[in-house]
Amino acid sequence: MALLISDECINCDVCEPECPNGAISQGTDIYIIAPELCTECIGHHDKPQCMEVCPVDCISQDPDVVEDKDSLYQKFLKISA
Ligand code: SF4
Ligand code: SF4
Repeated sequence: MALLISDECINCDVCEPECPNGAISQGTDIYIIAPELCTECIGHHDKPQCMEVCPVDCISQDPDVVEDKDSLYQKFLKISA
């Protein structure tokens, strides 16, 4: 699944530079993740880097974007091409 930032985000900007796919950006009120670019960090890291660094743990899996690991890896290959 792509990941989702909840409205508990405090706009600290710590996660944005950690994303290897450039999937995180500042939205209108909080930071947002572009689901078409989020691979859960598959292809780059063992764990989602944004979740690792978020100080308020407001990032979780997006139940509306269901993907298995192979789909995420295929997305990584497409983004990297
Ligand atoms: Fe970016 Fe990885 Fe977070 Fe997805 S899980 S938004 S690819 S840092
Ligand atoms: Fe928001 Fe967490 Fe990212 Fe900070 S690290 S901008 S609190 S999602």
